[in-house]
Amino acid sequence: TTAGETGAGGPARLTVLAGPTAVGKGTVSADVRERYPDVWLSVSATTRQPRPGEVDGVHYHFVGPERFDDMVAAGELLEWAVVHGRNRYGTPRRAVEEQLAAGRPALLEIDLQGARQVRATMPGARFVFLAPPSWEELERRLVGRGTEGPEERERRLATARVELAAEPEFDVVIVNDDVHRATDELVRVMGIEPAPADR
Ligand code: 5GP
Repeated sequence: TTAGETGAGGPARLTVLAGPTAVGKGTVSADVRERYPDVWLSVSATTRQPRPGEVDGVHYHFVGPERFDDMVAAGELLEWAVVHGRNRYGTPRRAVEEQLAAGRPALLEIDLQGARQVRATMPGARFVFLAPPSWEELERRLVGRGTEGPEERERRLATARVELAAEPEFDVVIVNDDVHRATDELVRVMGIEPAPADR
């Protein structure tokens, strides 16, 4: 194993999970949260409205535009970006630094723009690209999710096309053909032993 990389007493490595919209980053993150409590998952700040079932402080820190401005101005965000041409999302810096200093493996689930910023500022970070089994499957998932209207869907598809082309920039590619399998591969990359299959 690579336990020495992630053991207590750190510094632990930061892992960044990115990939095109609707590839299932959120689902994989939720699976990590549920099955791997040893992984610390960053909670982003966002100006987006909560969706039904989303809990402030758990899925996101839901903030207003003024508060987001303040966080940017105060240098509180490790990275931030406007995603899908609309809302702002950013990673609170201090929580990440605290986790790494404590030697805990930390995971960021962010968009490609954010991943590029982290690469510029966190040289030790590891970059994982979550890829769809195919473009057709990605399109199907984007339509199937049904949480956005047609205009928003088109915007996200356009973003996804650009994002898919970024795959070669990443250290590791994980194909999201099965959520549990993809999660297990991700935590193995992070130096954590996957749980025995319980399916
Ligand atoms: P959603 O609105 O569906 O929760 O997320 C939309 C997109 O925002 C996803 O691609 C997600 O990866 C990205 N995202 C979430 N948090 C952050 C963040 O802190 N920084 C950046 N750059 N992107 C984020």
